[in-house]
Amino acid sequence: MNGGRQVPVSAYIGLGSNLDDPIRQIDDAFKLLDTLPKSDLVARSSMYRSAPYGPVEQPDFINAVAGMRTMLPAVSLLELLQAIERTQGRAREHERWGPRVIDLDLLVFGNQEITDTVLTVPHPGIAERNFVLLPLREIAPNLLIPGLGSLSDIVVDVDEPRIERIS
Ligand code: AMP
Repeated sequence: MNGGRQVPVSAYIGLGSNLDDPIRQIDDAFKLLDTLPKSDLVARSSMYRSAPYGPVEQPDFINAVAGMRTMLPAVSLLELLQAIERTQGRAREHERWGPRVIDLDLLVFGNQEITDTVLTVPHPGIAERNFVLLPLREIAPNLLIPGLGSLSDIVVDVDEPRIERIS
């Protein structure tokens, strides 16, 4: 117990875009993350260009990761991330692996492990995705990921999918 005082949680959000000027989309998403209630945007990784993942032929992605401190519950934060996706013109009914204007994933939410119908945290697949791990490592090199361990111990394939830091 902490005497009823709430303590903010560190949350990490993965950003990705490969349509409609992706660098601007990622910039816009960071700006909108900075406006979320009961939350502060505290870290912003570089942007990375990465080859598309999965079976669909499509343009390269721009990826980045945001670090937030938030008093919101995880599901409320997820709903606000989805509202940002809608603001930026993303239709929800896109192809699973297909191109998208903006994709915001809640990667890590403090030390919480959540599996329910709308939210799985930590986000499954973190450990296999260099386009998540490289930007995350930039802003939180020693992050402890529940169920996975220390980010510093996760081996990152820096070539596959093809990836380059662009800013
Ligand atoms: P996506 O195509 O990646 O945008 O998938 C969005 C769907 O994944 C939504 O229906 C979310 O409820 C669900 N989802 C489950 N866990 C997460 C998470 N950690 N971050 C974002 N979306 C999630």
